[in-house]
Amino acid sequence: MILIKTNINNMANLDKFREETKEWLDKNCPPSMRSGADPKIPVDEVWGGRNAEYKNPESKLWLDRMGEKGWTMPTVPKEYGGGGLSKDEVKVLNEELFRIGAKQPLLSFGIWMLAPVLLEYGSEEQKKEHIPKIIKGEIRWCQGYSEPGSGSDLASLATKAEDIGEKFLVNGQKVWTSYADKADWILNLIGELNAGWTIAKKLLQHERAFISNFGLAAGMGSKRDIVSIAKKHLGEENGKINNGFYRSEISSHKIKEHAFGLTLKRAGDEGGKASATASMFKLYGTEHNKKRHELMVAASGINGVAWDGDEFDDNDKNLTRAWLRTKGNSIEGGTSEVQLNVISKRVLGLPSQ
Ligand SMILES: Cc1cc2nc3c(=O)[nH]c(=O)nc-3n(C[C@H](O)[C@H](O)[C@H](O)COP(=O)(O)OP(=O)(O)OC[C@H]3O[C@@H](n4cnc5c(N)ncnc54)[C@H](O)[C@@H]3O)c2cc1C
Repeated sequence: MILIKTNINNMANLDKFREETKEWLDKNCPPSMRSGADPKIPVDEVWGGRNAEYKNPESKLWLDRMGEKGWTMPTVPKEYGGGGLSKDEVKVLNEELFRIGAKQPLLSFGIWMLAPVLLEYGSEEQKKEHIPKIIKGEIRWCQGYSEPGSGSDLASLATKAEDIGEKFLVNGQKVWTSYADKADWILNLIGELNAGWTIAKKLLQHERAFISNFGLAAGMGSKRDIVSIAKKHLGEENGKINNGFYRSEISSHKIKEHAFGLTLKRAGDEGGKASATASMFKLYGTEHNKKRHELMVAASGINGVAWDGDEFDDNDKNLTRAWLRTKGNSIEGGTSEVQLNVISKRVLGLPSQ
């Protein structure tokens, strides 16, 4: 009886939260940040930071409003600037954002990698200093792991931070630091001095978990529709792609995508914490994303090798570039071979020699 009453109360609270969220979004999500926006208004890819420039002022407004609410990291406690929402409330929030086709207010390595690790291992001072700025997009972070001689074998890193009293003197060389030219800060000491290895591995699990979503998001935020591209270039008959081979390849690809999406969702519902299983999702998601782009380029025929031109519309513009970019998905965050090693050792528990 008590259980039923608790569930009813919970559902009533969620209904109330949905109404309040709808109302807030109606008032605060600017028109150009929703589906159906005027296509002439420029679209920003918002990464925040001190050097950010906005072509559309509503992108900044949307970021400021969502950041102020803490809804760029809705589950983070309010004391660190987050939304302080429960998992059920976040589900409602996401459904309502999806309903109006709201644009993601902020893309951020801080959100995907650093803040989750700070929450788990950071000092109180670090949490209070850095997490609110990540949530509001005030500071942009980049990740300085790789070095000329250390990529897969991260344990061989040679860069040293020497404690010289008030500060650290850092000596060494970094490569492959994505967006280093635009970032304000590079990932630094978290937790205790000389105890970073566990934390560094944890951060990689968060990185792999977010990269695996590329398999669904079709690469770095773009949402190309593979079926429309195939219909455009191969023709269409009775609503079907006019080519048996691609019809079958794309159907099978879509079925796998759906199954992968459900598996990701189930993993999220069961806790969603980053662990070695993130390597499974990273491996599958990135290989799937590469296959998706290969299919789109192949189905485009001769246009699949064109760099630019009038024959492209919003759906297949820059497709060749996007296809080439996906090649990096199975390298960044640890190569597919390295993920297979992690899966065999840490997920399947196979012996290493
Ligand atoms: C687009 C892109 C963005 C990136 N962004 C960042 C960033 O922001 N910050 C950052 O720190 N790094 C970044 N990286 C670097 C990335 O993490 C490394 O490239 C990656 O970990 C591989 O390391 P490596 O390039 O040194 O290759 P290597 O480690 O030299 O690997 C070469 C080949 O050997 C294979 N190999 C290596 N070791 C093993 C093993 N034990 N078992 C089986 N096969 C193995 C690899 O799979 C690969 O095929 C980025 C890379 C790319 C491509």
